Amino acid sequence: MFETIPAKKGDSIVALMTEFANDPRTEKMDLGIGIYRNNLGETPIMKAVMEAQKILLETEPTKAYQGLVGDVEYTELMQHFLLGGTKAADRAATLHTPGASGALRAVADLIAATQPDATVWISNPSYVNHQPIMERAGLKVRSYPYLNPETKLVDETAMLAKIAELGKGDVLLLHGCCHNPSGADITLDAWQSIADLANKNGFLPFVDIAYQGLGDGLDEDAQGLHLLANQVPELLISTSCSKNFGLYRERTGAAMVVTSSRQQALNTRALMCELARGSYSMPPAHGAGVVKLILQDDALTTLWKQELKEMTARVTGLRSALVEEFQQKTQSNQFDYFAKHKGMFTLTGFDDEMLEKLKADFGIYIVKGGRINVAGLKEHEVPKLVDAVIRCQS
Ligand code: PMP
Repeated sequence: MFETIPAKKGDSIVALMTEFANDPRTEKMDLGIGIYRNNLGETPIMKAVMEAQKILLETEPTKAYQGLVGDVEYTELMQHFLLGGTKAADRAATLHTPGASGALRAVADLIAATQPDATVWISNPSYVNHQPIMERAGLKVRSYPYLNPETKLVDETAMLAKIAELGKGDVLLLHGCCHNPSGADITLDAWQSIADLANKNGFLPFVDIAYQGLGDGLDEDAQGLHLLANQVPELLISTSCSKNFGLYRERTGAAMVVTSSRQQALNTRALMCELARGSYSMPPAHGAGVVKLILQDDALTTLWKQELKEMTARVTGLRSALVEEFQQKTQSNQFDYFAKHKGMFTLTGFDDEMLEKLKADFGIYIVKGGRINVAGLKEHEVPKLVDAVIRCQS
C-alpha cells in the first residue's frame, strides 16, 4: 500500500534546527523556530502555569472524557476573555481545540461543510501553515497584498484595494496581532475599513489571533478583533494559548463563531463538534485545565499578566536595542523597521545567499525567507547580530 510513497525532503525549519544542534560553535544563535526564549535562551514554564499545574494535580477528579466541546468552562472563559464587552459576546459560541492549528482546521472544516466553494484569502506572506490547513479542508486559497518589501511595513492601500474586491463566498483571514512572519500589523483605521467593506460587500472576516499580549498588551492587541466584533454580523476566530501562556506542547486553543444569534452560534458549534468527531474527536484537557485555573483566580491572573508583560518588554527592549545599534553602525534608518514590528517576529527579507553567509560565517540561524525570531536573541548578542548583518550585506 505504501510502496509508492516517495522519500520526502524534510521540513526546512526542522532541518535548520538539526543543523543548529549539530553546530559545534559556542557563539551560535538560533533565531529560527517561533518560540519565546528568555535571556538565557530558555523557554521556562511560566510561574502562573506551574502554580496552576500543582493545583490541577491535587484537585483533578477524573480523566473521563470531557465531551466534544472540550472543557466547557474553559470555552466560556476564553470567549469572555476575547469577546467580553463587545456586541458579539452574546451571539458567539466557542469550541476548545488542540491549539490554534486545531482551531484553524475546525473553522476550515466548518467553511467547507457550509460553503464548499468559498475562497479563503490569506495575507502575502502569511503563517506558513495557513494555506496547507485551508487546502487540506478542501478550500480554495488566494492571497491579498500585505507587506511592502521596501519598507517592511504593511501596504494598506494595496491590501484594502484587493479586499474591496471580495464579496459573498469569500473568507478574509486576518492576523489579530503580531503578524507571522512579518511582525507588521495593520492600523486601527485599516481594521475599520475592513469592517466597512465586510458590511458593504458581504465577505466573512476570520481573525487568527495567536500572540495576544505579545505586541502592545492584552487589550491593545485585541483592538482590531474587538472593532470587528462590534461591527460585523458574522465573524470567525481562532486563538492559541501556546505563546501567551507558554503552553506550546499542551495543544491548547479555541475556535469561535459569531453569528446572528446565540442559538445560531450554538447550532454552528454543534456542526463543528460533529466534524471534529470525524478527526481528533476531543481536545487534550491539560492545557485548558491550566488556563481555566489561571483565569478563574485573581492572584494567578495577575501573576500571569505580569509574566507576559515581562516577556513582551524583553522583546520590545531587544527591538529598540537592535535599532539603536543599527543606527549607530550604519548611520542610517534602514533597520528602524525592527522597532515598528510587533510580537516575536520580523521579516527581514534577507535572501538565501545572505542567510547562508550568516549561518556559515557567524553561526546565525534564520529561517528561509528571512524571518527572525527576535525572542530568540540574548541581549549581549545584539551587537554581534548587527555586525554580522552589516558585514554580510557589504
Ligand atoms: N496561527 C498563527 C499565526 C501562528 O503563528 C501559529 C503558530 N505559530 C498558529 C496559528 C498555531 O498555533 P498553535 O501552536 O497553537 O497550534
